[in-house]
Amino acid sequence: MSQKCLVYQCENYKGQGLFVGDLCGPCHHMITTGEINRSSMDFVSRLHKAMPKIIAEIVQDECADSPRESDNLGTLCLFHRRYDVPDESGLGMEWVQRFLHNDFKGVWLPVYAYDHSGIALSTEPFSCPWDSGQLGVIYITQEKIDAEGLEAQGLESNMKEILRGEVKTFGQWLNGECYGYKLRYDNGLCGNHMDSCFGFYGREEAEQAAREAGAVEVI
Ligand SMILES: [Zn+2]
Repeated sequence: MSQKCLVYQCENYKGQGLFVGDLCGPCHHMITTGEINRSSMDFVSRLHKAMPKIIAEIVQDECADSPRESDNLGTLCLFHRRYDVPDESGLGMEWVQRFLHNDFKGVWLPVYAYDHSGIALSTEPFSCPWDSGQLGVIYITQEKIDAEGLEAQGLESNMKEILRGEVKTFGQWLNGECYGYKLRYDNGLCGNHMDSCFGFYGREEAEQAAREAGAVEVI
């Protein structure tokens, strides 16, 4: 029997057509030029189907650091009897209120909490008055806006968007919504260099990162 082309899943045999050494003409062409001919498409799609797919398993990250330990633009001042929440101003609730309602220059947003089987934070009030209330504020001073050169990025609405994002992320951390992903092949084998990565706030962020790392399916 004549010899098969060396390429995995290729079904061309010597004697059926042009060969370059142990490679059939189409495989040699694909490998050396990177071009895929119409006649090779079938083979390529068969090969693609035969290749193991990368699956990401999303897992809870039990020891994620608080997002407030990294750089943030906002200063988050929260006050709660039971939850260990930061007052990053270090000056206490009364001072923060006085400061914001007198001659504050900058951008600030109230922070509300909804406390019911876990805690949710938002810069908009919650509709249920029984389990929710204002927990504090997040602000960025005009001084910091100037110092960081943020004026160029613009508008007050952009600043508010950044502050909203910081509140959302901190709320996810406070609520234990921290995740990581572990990659593996769908054939059950574990590649030597299969990635895992932790420290995402919110499941969506972990899923997106896993897809960017090559996962075709997220479980
Ligand atoms: Zn071939």
